[in-house]
Amino acid sequence: MEAEDLATQWERLHLSKEESSFFHANPEQYTEEAARGKYYLVGKALTEKSVNSEGFRVTMSQIWKLDGWVIFKKLGEQCFLIEFQKLVDKERVLRGRPWFFDRHLLTMMEVDEKISIHALHFHFEPFWVQLHNLPLATMTEDFGQQFVGSIGHVIKVEAEVDGRAWARCLRVRVAVDLHKPLLRGKWLKLGEKQHWISFKYERLQNFCFKCGVLSHKGRNCARLRAEQQGDEQA
Ligand SMILES: [Zn+2]
Repeated sequence: MEAEDLATQWERLHLSKEESSFFHANPEQYTEEAARGKYYLVGKALTEKSVNSEGFRVTMSQIWKLDGWVIFKKLGEQCFLIEFQKLVDKERVLRGRPWFFDRHLLTMMEVDEKISIHALHFHFEPFWVQLHNLPLATMTEDFGQQFVGSIGHVIKVEAEVDGRAWARCLRVRVAVDLHKPLLRGKWLKLGEKQHWISFKYERLQNFCFKCGVLSHKGRNCARLRAEQQGDEQA
């Protein structure tokens, strides 16, 4: 029986005296717990395989090089609750995204005290995206905001105070939608001329160029395997 059905059935029942009496929680104690929630992150590795807890703990502690301690609690096959001793460490980890474990993208979320951990949906992860081949006139913050809006939510564009960018490419921090195939680039039409603007995602690993997704690559791709099998039979 589904949990929801069960809950609806329970609601129809008359409550006993004990059931209908309130349990009074101490608000002070609750505030303390809620304040501790600021020190947590929930991380999920984008893989279908189970993640080894000890391997995860050792690797991530080494990569992050934190000032304080960090505790990992396994919540599921690929999911961990990560508790930081210091808020600065947590913020440093969030700023340094994306992170990878064993080449799999580690998606991260802050903990919302008002919802259950099982209700969290890992949907977006910030990446630095480099835009190559832009005409000089479009190397600006405003252009970056508008052009990259098609990939996902733009967090910031790397530019000087006057809004111009003087580098070999334009770097844009974008919250990438993990459920959509990544764009490899995009056509730009400026006046009569058209330009292919290629997107380079910094630190991108475990990316399937066949499907355009982040959850697998190469020989783990079902599409690629099906095609290869088709070739062998032909
Ligand atoms: Zn694939």
